[in-house]
Amino acid sequence: MTQPRNDRLEPMPGDWRRALAVVAHPDDLEYGCAAAIAGWTDGGRDVVYVLATRGEAGIDSLEPAVCGPLREREQRASAAVVGVSTVEFLDHRDGVVEYGVALRRDITAAIRRHRPELVLTLNHRDTWGGVAWNTPDHVAVGRATLDAVADAGNRWIFPELAAQGLQPWNGVRWAAVAGSSTPTHAVEAAPGMERAVRSLLEHRTYIRALTDDDPETYARTFLNAQAEATGEGFGGRPAVAFELFSR
Ligand SMILES: [Zn+2]
Repeated sequence: MTQPRNDRLEPMPGDWRRALAVVAHPDDLEYGCAAAIAGWTDGGRDVVYVLATRGEAGIDSLEPAVCGPLREREQRASAAVVGVSTVEFLDHRDGVVEYGVALRRDITAAIRRHRPELVLTLNHRDTWGGVAWNTPDHVAVGRATLDAVADAGNRWIFPELAAQGLQPWNGVRWAAVAGSSTPTHAVEAAPGMERAVRSLLEHRTYIRALTDDDPETYARTFLNAQAEATGEGFGGRPAVAFELFSR
């Protein structure tokens, strides 16, 4: 007999102090994750954002040289709404992020700098489930982040980082992938939902370029629908889901 859908998702672990979220673009965390992050920072936990790019290729009507700094500002404002004050950019090129040693090294350095117990990233698989194709940047950054969790703990991988004072950090206990089509865990969205909406709304330029709808209606409708659909697997409580890899 198959498991009833309502009991599918386990609660996310709560016994940690520091999380590091590593994603490809400004807005990657705001499209679904921010409600969880707001709840965590409310509980006194530290969350740091690291973005591989500035999202400079994300708006058709804006030149990358104009778009990059603007999206960086919107991302910093967006993070502040959910209690995240440290936002770092790795300066890989938007749209053509390459999975490889350079990306793994940059993310390993971030993990060693911030020493998180929980690492978050976005869907690293080819699709969002079914035939909805993922973008190459998400795949590259997601995979490199999952790999860097182990790299960060090994002193013989990237010894140049130790020479720069970034000592190995083997304290990551979980890597959690948002936007996975095979989630295993979830956290309640309701306590952080209002700030999640405002956090997504900080990406004003991006949203204006994306839709003619009223931005607030758009953000609220999107995030609530997503949380409610996820909640069907979490006892009916609106939720943010993750695929959790334990170490
Ligand atoms: Zn993205």
